[in-house]
Amino acid sequence: RAKERGRNHYQFYSSTMTSKASLVLKLENLLHQALDNEELSLHYQPQVNLKTGEITGMEALLRWYHPELGQVSPAKLIPLAEQTDLIIPIGQWVLHTACEQSLAWQKSGLKPMPIAVNFSPRQFQQPNLVSMVTEVLQETGFPPDLLEVEITESTIMQNEDFARQALQELRQMGVHISLDDFGTGYSSLSYLQKFPFNTLKIDQCFIQSLSDRPQDLAIISAMITLGNHLQLRVIAEGVETLQQLELLQRLHCEEVQGFWFSRPLKAEDATKLLEQHCLLGGDFYDLEKD
Ligand code: C2E
Ligand code: MG
Ligand code: MG
Ligand code: MG
Repeated sequence: RAKERGRNHYQFYSSTMTSKASLVLKLENLLHQALDNEELSLHYQPQVNLKTGEITGMEALLRWYHPELGQVSPAKLIPLAEQTDLIIPIGQWVLHTACEQSLAWQKSGLKPMPIAVNFSPRQFQQPNLVSMVTEVLQETGFPPDLLEVEITESTIMQNEDFARQALQELRQMGVHISLDDFGTGYSSLSYLQKFPFNTLKIDQCFIQSLSDRPQDLAIISAMITLGNHLQLRVIAEGVETLQQLELLQRLHCEEVQGFWFSRPLKAEDATKLLEQHCLLGGDFYDLEKD
């Protein structure tokens, strides 16, 4: 029978394919448990204004520490989560946790801290995306205008109509939208007109090639100018050296994110950094205003 033949067909799979499939299954199970066992955590990386020295926001970055596998990088974890649909509960957990963290900072007397949260393609394309975000904002009581949703060009390209509608609705709620990894996708510049972005994040590959490929200066310079003219917030990602920083400053890039200022930090260390920054006056917040 056809069914049986279909089943026999599996015998033709090579053993490497079989073991790869079972490995994915194993990982999927582990990732499932990760959510329950509290093996997931968020690290936070500050975004800094070069003119004022102010920390303008924190990007939440997912971390998975498994007792046997050790640290699993987002580069492996996110595609796996996307394949298995686990990205949906994980994404919701990330959003919830990031909002709560920012609220905790505010409650401890630090200034209201904008928080940026990454959304991967599958996660963003969920029909109930907007209601999920609304729900988390309501549950946590987090102000929508302190939330920034980070998506990439490829996320938009998968379904432009859906993306336009969803982004507009998020914007109407007051949520900010950031175009992540700008310059690396295959989209056209017209995306900048068609979609309601607040922020452009220039991909780190451009910043990192600055030192050895001076011709890239022209490209970065053009991207910054474009963002500035469109009145978008421009953030250079992956800034690691003072040399890169000074160059970006000369090109009128207002904000940076990268190891030069700080690596992504676990919540406890991020809190210490914000407290220090506040005390040193780098990030002065007038408590008497409230
Ligand atoms: P991304 O959103 O572009 O995040 C920036 C990545 O660059 C982070 O890697 C960060 O640790 C790294 N980075 C920051 N500064 C520097 C620097 O100066 N030099 C270098 N070499 N790297 C720097 P990470 O945390 O491994 O995340 C990788 C990607 O995984 C993220 O890229 C994002 O696309 C995705 N991701 C991370 N967390 C989440 C999440 O909660 N949800 C979703 N959907 N995706 C996530
Ligand atoms: Mg990002
Ligand atoms: Mg990026
Ligand atoms: Mg990236």
